Order: sequence, then C-alpha cells, then structure tokens
Amino acid sequence: MSAPTSTLGSNEGTLFIVAAPSGAGKSTLVNALLEREPEISLSTSHTTRPPRSGEQYGRHYYFVERSEFEREVLEGIFLEHAQVHGNFYGTSRRTVQDLLQHGRDVLLEIDWQGAAQVRQKKPDCVSVFILPPSRAELERRLRGRGSDSEEVIERRLRNSRGEIAHAHEFDYIIVNDRFEDALDSLQAIVRAVRQRSVLQCQRHESLIHELLTES
Ligand code: 5GP
Repeated sequence: MSAPTSTLGSNEGTLFIVAAPSGAGKSTLVNALLEREPEISLSTSHTTRPPRSGEQYGRHYYFVERSEFEREVLEGIFLEHAQVHGNFYGTSRRTVQDLLQHGRDVLLEIDWQGAAQVRQKKPDCVSVFILPPSRAELERRLRGRGSDSEEVIERRLRNSRGEIAHAHEFDYIIVNDRFEDALDSLQAIVRAVRQRSVLQCQRHESLIHELLTES
C-alpha cells in the first residue's frame, strides 16, 4: 500500500467522494452538480457489471471482464476497488492523480468501502453521503429506474442497510428529499471547501503579500 499523500502545501485540486445506497439519487445529484460546477472532473470507474441500456463504454464506466479486472488489481492500477452488489468496481489511480496534479477537482462516485480506502490514502479528501428521505422512497426510486431486474432491485434494497450504517464515517450527510435543496447543499459543500484558508493562502499568495506590505 502506498503512503498517505496530502494536497496541503501544493496546488493540487480537491478530491471529493459522493456515496449513497442505490436509489438515493446520487448520480442525478452529481450530474446536476457538474453542470453547475463544470471545473470538477468526474472519475470514470472500471466495472465488471454489464452495461445498462444506454450506458456507454468510457463515459459511464469502463466495462471489463472479470479476468481483466483481476489483472488490473494485481497490476496495482486502482486507487481503490471493491465488490458491490456482486460486481467489481475500481478507480484508476493514474487518472485521478493526473487530474489532481493539474489542479482539477475530482469527484468519485463510489461506495463506502472504496471511500474508506481513499480516506486512508488521501486523508484530506472530502466525503459526502446521500440519504434517501425514507425507506419507501428509496424503494420507489429504485423501481422507478426501470432498468434493473427484480432480483437486482431486491439485492440493492437488502444491501442498502449495510451501506447506510457507514454514513457517519463521511464528512457530510445530505438527505435527498427535495432535489433542489439537496443540490444546493452539495454545491455549498464544494464552495466552502474551495474557500478553505489552506487553499486560499496558496492561490492568493501575492494578494496577501501585497496587503501585508507597508507602503
Ligand atoms: P451502479 O452499478 O448502480 O452503477 O453502482 C453500484 C454501486 O457501485 C454504487 O454505490 C456506486 O457508487 C458504486 N461504484 C461505482 N463505481 C465505483 C468504484 O469505482 N469503486 C467503488 N468502490 N464503488 C463504485
């Protein structure tokens, strides 16, 4: 395992993690956030899950065979990887690192297991957990997607308790009841993080210097 790295003292972007049980509305929220904050890059994960209708290779996921995924794990290409709902998912270390080093903020839409691994390696990441407003609403949203089989829906519902049990490990929790409110909260977190003094002191070094200089 590589040593923890920190963005403090550099001009790296911020690494955001957004996690939620399936059906909480995470992807819709994240996509709307990216429309409002286009300078955030969404990391595209590798997965062994078969594509849903309309999903494109390289845009939604890099869809790979199980054998290829296992080879990639052995090669150490992943910043984190986990088995979720019976499929494997992983985040490419290189892609995330390159973007951060170029000063881009990066958002990972991953599960709580992946979030725990990333926190170990990048302790200054900022993590957000999205909760549905009720169990009934979670089920309604999962069924409303219309793209998963009954078996997949049942499994995701069963697994949701195990995921929600980890919500307290995240820096922020948002209840996605009214979509616009949840989106405003998510954007407020991103904006507040960008104003952190450690980042602002680097960005505005010359301004602060000028303001401190006696004329
Ligand atoms: P879905 O199959 O609905 O796209 O995603 C299922 C779950 O896997 C979601 O909780 C999603 O956030 C998570 N997931 C997607 N990509 C990754 C990844 O790269 N790593 C981990 N750990 N989880 C992921």
